[in-house]
Amino acid sequence: MTDDADDIAERKMQFLFALRSRGVTDKRVLTAMEKIDRGAFVRGHFATRAYEDMPLPITCGQTISQPSVVGLMTQALRVTPRDKVLEVGTGSGYQAAILSQLARRVYTVDRHKALVTDASAIFQALDLTNITALTADGSFGLPEQAPFDRILVTAAAEDPPGPLLAQLKIGGIMVVPVGQSDAVQSLIRVTRSETGFDYDELRPVRFVPLLEGLGRD
Ligand code: SAH
Repeated sequence: MTDDADDIAERKMQFLFALRSRGVTDKRVLTAMEKIDRGAFVRGHFATRAYEDMPLPITCGQTISQPSVVGLMTQALRVTPRDKVLEVGTGSGYQAAILSQLARRVYTVDRHKALVTDASAIFQALDLTNITALTADGSFGLPEQAPFDRILVTAAAEDPPGPLLAQLKIGGIMVVPVGQSDAVQSLIRVTRSETGFDYDELRPVRFVPLLEGLGRD
């Protein structure tokens, strides 16, 4: 191996080690995160930091989430191979790519068309054919594909949005950061039962806010 290849292998080992040490223990999630190269989703200046456990800036003023948070959220979602999943907040596409390894079908929406276009190109290049990325205000979910087995929101809402709750199947699970945009938010897991919704508070997190309407780019 060249020094560069050694270096990348070493960084990837540390990446997986950091995930485990921060509580990502689910084998399927770890395997998916080992397979999907975060480096493919980080451009330019910050590409060299793709394997560090930190959020990084992407275009449209957005961020690709911290890998350990991606892992913990994915784990909390308890995805099964039969599931149809909706992700709100495509961003770089990294989280959707991880979900694509665990679920039957992934729909991901973002309010910025430019992010959806870039992410779709990466999905195609990586041959991730079970993901569909669309430009939409995800606060309203994706009525034409509802209901969903799992919904993952990767932007912070003040409350779990009503249309998303309505688009969850009975027995379905939604993971969503809830709280005011600048304050610390809580990651919430909502499980829909025959009679209503059960809420679990999982951990403090920090996400960009879920905004209304479409972005200008
Ligand atoms: N999951 C992403 C990171 C998400 S950052 C990744 O893996 O890289 C949060 C994203 O939510 C941003 O891209 C932002 O544009 C998007 N967003 C915010 N409000 C939204 C809304 N109402 N509908 C859809 N996307 C939204």
